[in-house]
Amino acid sequence: MSSWQKQLEKSIIHPRDIPVRFIDGAGALARITDAYPMRVNPYFLSLIKKKGDPIWKQVIPDEQEFRDTICMTDPLNEENLSPVPNLVHKYPDRALFLVSSECAVYCRFCTRKRKVGTDRMKVSRETVREGLNYLRKTTEIRDVLLSGGDPLLLTDEYLQWILEALRRIKTIEIIRIHTRVPCALPMRVTTRLVRMLKKFHPLYINIHFNHPDEITAEAAKACGRLADNGFPLGGQTVLLRGVNNSAATMKQLMHRLLQIRVRPYYLFQADMTRGTNHFRTSIEEGLAIMKTLIGHTSGLAVPAYTVDAPGGGGKIPLTPDYVKRLDSELIFENYCGVTCSYGNVVY
Ligand SMILES: *Cc1c(COP(=O)(O)O)cnc(C)c1O
Ligand code: SF4
Repeated sequence: MSSWQKQLEKSIIHPRDIPVRFIDGAGALARITDAYPMRVNPYFLSLIKKKGDPIWKQVIPDEQEFRDTICMTDPLNEENLSPVPNLVHKYPDRALFLVSSECAVYCRFCTRKRKVGTDRMKVSRETVREGLNYLRKTTEIRDVLLSGGDPLLLTDEYLQWILEALRRIKTIEIIRIHTRVPCALPMRVTTRLVRMLKKFHPLYINIHFNHPDEITAEAAKACGRLADNGFPLGGQTVLLRGVNNSAATMKQLMHRLLQIRVRPYYLFQADMTRGTNHFRTSIEEGLAIMKTLIGHTSGLAVPAYTVDAPGGGGKIPLTPDYVKRLDSELIFENYCGVTCSYGNVVY
């Protein structure tokens, strides 16, 4: 058994096994993990410094998950936007293909909390074949995002089977893998995996990171191995209350991502997912954080702050309003009424 499989085998999946220094009592939490699964692998557990810290909050179940009465089970309306099970076709030329139901850890704020890691998510060779058939006949799709769950939890052989089938579809130009593995289970990024993936370029890899403490030597090694083999790496971060909703934390995260060759791509407003309301911030808070990045640090360190509209409306970029008055062509001639990134209005 490889080291990443051992990590999964030794994961904590029941609240009674959470180390006592991290928890007041496991009793009530078992009810929560019956509904929303827990998995904390030993590597990710080792990143927790103390109870309630930003790593702890992401993976240790909380009774607040059951107190959420305002959010929705399927906030992005994915089930209704799936022409076949596990394939979301929302934008004309792109498709989100869910090929795995498992993850390296189960994030308490997951958008697909309704099904990821449970038997409510039915992913099989059969559903993958159905998805492939849809992609074959829907020729306007040129960009396929593999997600789940986490595609890198599949075995090398199974993932290779999917990638080979995708590459036989000539209308698909690029493939992306959306994963948390380099962050939450970096030992999964083996030389064997990378050698297999390399055959399927152009292959983009978007990696989910939420906190500077996740950028360890192991994560750096995994990302370095991917970057060395030509995979363009993008960063995806969810704005989470109590985890990363401070300007200093966010800036540090973005800087550390660039140091490990991950280019920040999206900063997501937390979706309105049932059981995750306690993680949500206001959009004003997100915009204020963006204002501390734009112009104040490398443009490369600035992700696109985006809200995925509830109900399936799609991604909407959110930008601080630097342009105060749009009433004049002169804006572009004289910079009239434009706020520069340091907050000064230029007349
Ligand atoms: C986010 C997303 C995509 C990809 O969007 P990009 O803005 O191109 O990264 C595609 N399909 C679905 C359903 C998505 O949620
Ligand atoms: S890794 Fe992604 S899909 Fe898996 S639980 Fe976390 S947010 Fe959800």
